[in-house]
Amino acid sequence: MKAIMYHYVREFDPSFPNFRFLDINNFRKQLDFFEKEYGFVTKDEWDSFTLKGILPAESGKIILTFDDAMRCHFDYVFFELLQRGLWGIFYVPTLPFLESKILDVHRIHLLCGAFDGVSLFQECMSLISEDMITDSKKREFREETYRNQVNHEGVDDFKRLLNYYIGSEFRESVLDEIAETFDFSFDPKEYYVTRDQLIHMNKSGMVIGSHSFTHPLMSKLAIGEQRKEITDSFSALDRIGVCSERTYCHPYGGFISFNSDTIDLLDECGVLYSFSVEPREITASDFVHSKQFLPRFDCNFFDFGRAS
Ligand SMILES: [Zn+2]
Repeated sequence: MKAIMYHYVREFDPSFPNFRFLDINNFRKQLDFFEKEYGFVTKDEWDSFTLKGILPAESGKIILTFDDAMRCHFDYVFFELLQRGLWGIFYVPTLPFLESKILDVHRIHLLCGAFDGVSLFQECMSLISEDMITDSKKREFREETYRNQVNHEGVDDFKRLLNYYIGSEFRESVLDEIAETFDFSFDPKEYYVTRDQLIHMNKSGMVIGSHSFTHPLMSKLAIGEQRKEITDSFSALDRIGVCSERTYCHPYGGFISFNSDTIDLLDECGVLYSFSVEPREITASDFVHSKQFLPRFDCNFFDFGRAS
C-alpha cells in the first residue's frame, strides 16, 4: 500500500500570488492516475490492516491523507472524494478549534503567500535581536545571516529565521508585529475547516485524526509537554465528536520530528496507528514495527502532484 500526503489543494487566489498549493485540477488528474495505475485501498481493507495486520490482496493500492485541516479540504477535497466514492484521513491540529487562532506555522505560509520573501526577511531581521536567538544557534546565526545579507534573502531564509533560529517563545509576537507592519489580518474561519464541516465529513465516511494540539516539533519537547499535546488534541476531537478511531499524524513528519517518548505516549493513549513522512510503501512488517510511524509519500512524488 502507498499512503499519500497532501496539504493545500485549491485554486489560484490573486490575494496570495506566491502561495504554494496543489491545483485542484492536478489533484483530479492525480486521482485519475492513481485509479488507473494502482486503485484505492477500501476502508474495510484499511481496517483489516490496522486491526489485524492483513494487507489487501492486490499490492500497491493507495490511501489518501490530508494534513492541517485547511478550509480547502472541505471546499475542494471532500466533495471530490465524495463524487468518486473515495474516503480519506484528515489530520487536525486542534488548537484553532478552541482558541479561534491561526497556528504560527500557517501564519508563516500565509505571509509568504501574500508578500515577497525579501521584504518579509528584512522586516523580520529588523525586529529580532541577538538575545532572541536560541543560545546553541547564536554563532551559526551570526555567520549565516551575514552571508545571507549578500545574496540569499528570501522565503527560505524568512522561514529559517522563524522556525529555526528564534527561540520559540518569541515567534508569536514577531509574527504579530510583521502582520501589523504589512497590514495583514488572519481569519481562522476562512483558513480552517469548521467544527460543523468536520462533523459532516466524518459522518460521510472520512476519518478524522489528531495532528497534535499546536503543531510543534515534538522531538524538541519534554515528555510531559508531548503528553499534553497528544491528550489535549484527542480530547478536543472527542468533544467535537469526530474521533471514531484513534489515529495520529506527526507534525512536520520524518524521523527528526518525533522521538521514542512520542511513540510510547501514542501507544499509552491507545492510538491505533500514526503516520510520518517517509517515501516507501507500507508493508506487512510495518504493522509490527512501525505502527506509530507508518510511511507516507508526499503527493509530489507522483505524476500531477507538483505544487503550483
Ligand atoms: Zn502539519
